[in-house]
Amino acid sequence: MNSDQVTLVGQVFESYVSEYHKNDMLLILKERDEDAHYPVVVNAMTLFETNMEIGEYFNAFPNEVLTIFDNALRRSALTILQSLSQPEGLSMKQNLHARISGLPVCPELVREHIPKTKDVGHFLSVTGTVIRTSLVKILEFERDYMCNKCKHVFVVQADFEQYYTFFRPSSCPSLENCDSSKFTCLSDLSSPTRCRDYQEIKIQEQVQRLSVGSIPRSMQVILEDDLVDSCKSGDDITVYGVVMQRWKPFKQEVRCEVEIVLKANYVQVNNEESAGVNMDEEVRKEFEDFWEHYKSDPFAGRNEILASLCPQVFGMYLVKLAVAMVLAGGIQRTDATGTRVRGESHLLLVGDPGTGKSQFLKYAAKITPRSVLTTGIGSTSAEPSKC
Ligand SMILES: [Zn+2]
Repeated sequence: MNSDQVTLVGQVFESYVSEYHKNDMLLILKERDEDAHYPVVVNAMTLFETNMEIGEYFNAFPNEVLTIFDNALRRSALTILQSLSQPEGLSMKQNLHARISGLPVCPELVREHIPKTKDVGHFLSVTGTVIRTSLVKILEFERDYMCNKCKHVFVVQADFEQYYTFFRPSSCPSLENCDSSKFTCLSDLSSPTRCRDYQEIKIQEQVQRLSVGSIPRSMQVILEDDLVDSCKSGDDITVYGVVMQRWKPFKQEVRCEVEIVLKANYVQVNNEESAGVNMDEEVRKEFEDFWEHYKSDPFAGRNEILASLCPQVFGMYLVKLAVAMVLAGGIQRTDATGTRVRGESHLLLVGDPGTGKSQFLKYAAKITPRSVLTTGIGSTSAEPSKC
């Protein structure tokens, strides 16, 4: 993007923030912690409606535009702070992040499946289940270097695409025709100062949304700053972010593998919507009527339920009963000593190949609001941590 475009996008976003998010900004300015990272959640639809052009730039250069947005937020915060006659208790915050949500619902932008190579460089949202979270780490993202010849000082950013490795430039970036290639690192390598929180999570496509017979795919998602610790294993989330690729720095005689990851901009946890079963009066009445009907013979009622469970498998009532009981789950109890006893039962199904075990497994995953389907390989091998 050229400097005119950068200025335009910055100005449009700044006026958008002052119109739609002035209260959010005031609340952030009121916060005590000046070093914390603060999100401002922006609705993409509203933003793009105020200015079509900004939407086009955003889709074409998401990473650049997000940086411009964050800078505009800082300018906007400063303007608001300076416009107040009595700014008591308010202080400037440097770490502000525009978090983009509410993308227009179209197949290019809103996904239920893991993005592929052709999506690299695009901003989109993916809905999935968190199956693994890494420990939170500290990431050094910037270092100062000085040219040994002309004493020019410059900043080097860690390269996301190569697992945040630092690379010195091949020649001095000074404008004064110095072609030296010897530099000294000015940053203290033993106790780095310019750092951010960093975490990787793994999300998997939701089993309920897959067609029969397909195995859910998964991908790494990179969380930074305030996004770290925003979700835990088992959560259903929608991640908004840029699809990126990364590879380990080249080594001789080591094959270079490129991985596709999602660099998150915003994480929305959807548990409340799907985990709680919506029991309105009508459904409740249906249950009551059902058991009222079988009042004299509740086993007949149970058998009718079992007959409709996993209908693609004929018979096997005992197995169906076991699966039904695991699906219904139990109640957590606390005994006299205060020890909590988990109520969920476990089920081990053993049998010859082709006797319908995975049919039951898939059926159970499909009717449970939150489930993760994994294979023998996925569940037994501990994957080495990567970052
Ligand atoms: Zn130089």
